[in-house]
Amino acid sequence: MQRRSFIKKVGIGSLAMTTFPLTTIHNDPEYSIVELTGKATIDLYGEGINLRKEAHDAFVLMKKAAYSAGFDIKMISSYRDFYRQEAIWERKYISYTEEEGMLPIDAIAKIIEYSTIPGTSRHHWGTDIDIIDGYPKVNGDVLVPEKFEEGGPFEPFKNWLDKNAEKFGFYLVYTDDYFRKGFKYEPWHYSYAPLSKPMLTQFRKKNIFRMIQNETFEGAEHFTTSFLKNYIHNNILDINPDLL
Ligand SMILES: [Zn+2]
Repeated sequence: MQRRSFIKKVGIGSLAMTTFPLTTIHNDPEYSIVELTGKATIDLYGEGINLRKEAHDAFVLMKKAAYSAGFDIKMISSYRDFYRQEAIWERKYISYTEEEGMLPIDAIAKIIEYSTIPGTSRHHWGTDIDIIDGYPKVNGDVLVPEKFEEGGPFEPFKNWLDKNAEKFGFYLVYTDDYFRKGFKYEPWHYSYAPLSKPMLTQFRKKNIFRMIQNETFEGAEHFTTSFLKNYIHNNILDINPDLL
């Protein structure tokens, strides 16, 4: 009798132990393909911030800390929906092919040095930001790598970010790694890892290939199978390993 109840208890105990990790996995939010491709309406927080709640709160803390250190974090870009990305893509595509006379395949290669195919931008997630220091006077475009390098106006800000951004959960996505493929080095683009890591995990389980193939924006008809495979492999997945 005693032995039987002992076995029963062990049975229940081991069952509880095996179900516990599964339960925590199921507690992670599920993101639909519509949401991950910027086609859903999501709740965004903060005037001029426009991030998911948790990323917004972390950004506000980082902004305060940066301010104390003498930097005024200026948001250049945060959440961007599919249709905004589509407009950026089509403007560039039409300009390169019609005004500059580039071949479609060359125009696409040039666009994806810095811009994503609509539906695949991390800015669709409400977790990623492009930031600069608002204090220095800067001529021309601000999102230029040289401006974050030695002698550039954002060099001190970049040094501060190198030391501090990760404490707030923000990680550089497109790092300055010679062997990294895909998008070029973007010293201004940070991602709030606690949210964007699970989002990327779920995004890679979707049929990204089929999703892009079904799109009808300008230039999409020139995407070949090998181009799309390389794009997913290099541009979506060859990023800072801390974000995988
Ligand atoms: Zn960006």
